[in-house]
Amino acid sequence: MQLVIFDVDGTLVDSQALIVAAQREAFAACGLVAPTRERSLSIVGLSLREAFTALVGPLGPVEELAEAYRQAFGRLRADPACEEPLFPGIEGMIRRLAAEPDILLGIATGKSRKGVAHLVDRHGWDRVFTTIQTADDSPSKPDPGMLLAALAETGLGPADAVMIGDTTFDMLMARAAGIRPIGVSWGYHPVPALWEAGAETVIDDVEHLAPLIGLRQPAGAAAHG
Ligand SMILES: [Mg+2]
Repeated sequence: MQLVIFDVDGTLVDSQALIVAAQREAFAACGLVAPTRERSLSIVGLSLREAFTALVGPLGPVEELAEAYRQAFGRLRADPACEEPLFPGIEGMIRRLAAEPDILLGIATGKSRKGVAHLVDRHGWDRVFTTIQTADDSPSKPDPGMLLAALAETGLGPADAVMIGDTTFDMLMARAAGIRPIGVSWGYHPVPALWEAGAETVIDDVEHLAPLIGLRQPAGAAAHG
């Protein structure tokens, strides 16, 4: 049995429009100048308090920003301009992995439980993920807490798990838990940073995940190389 754990933002869903817009509103609500888009995206994956501490420092209005962000995020999620599309190939890969008898799926995210529930509901993913670890239950990435909880919940050891994510926080968290860290290039952190943070490999197409976790090519795929 193998546990395949996914990060959400920047790995499964492209949530940058929503995240950047919600950060802008939060900073405006607190009378502060919003960070650049690049800087906004650099903290995606951290839990809210850690994210805003990274942006304004520990002496800044971290709690006020986090609260304003939560409110803005909830409101903006209903805005079609802030849609959170799945990255290419994700839907198919999730369905394929979910159908494998020897694979369990998990989520480890800086999103709230509510945010993940919204996502699961929207994509019809109920019963797809065996373990869901969120910012509400564990310390922020890169603390290994979420992954240790996922292992405990599924009864598997670190050697039986992989963590797939787009940020250095995911790679560091996986290393700290003794789990294989697999980076993805389509998210919010630069690829060299993922290697530096200990990525075992970095994939640029979700299809490349299959051989890494020992799955055979689906019938018909071989002809295309
Ligand atoms: Mg991410």
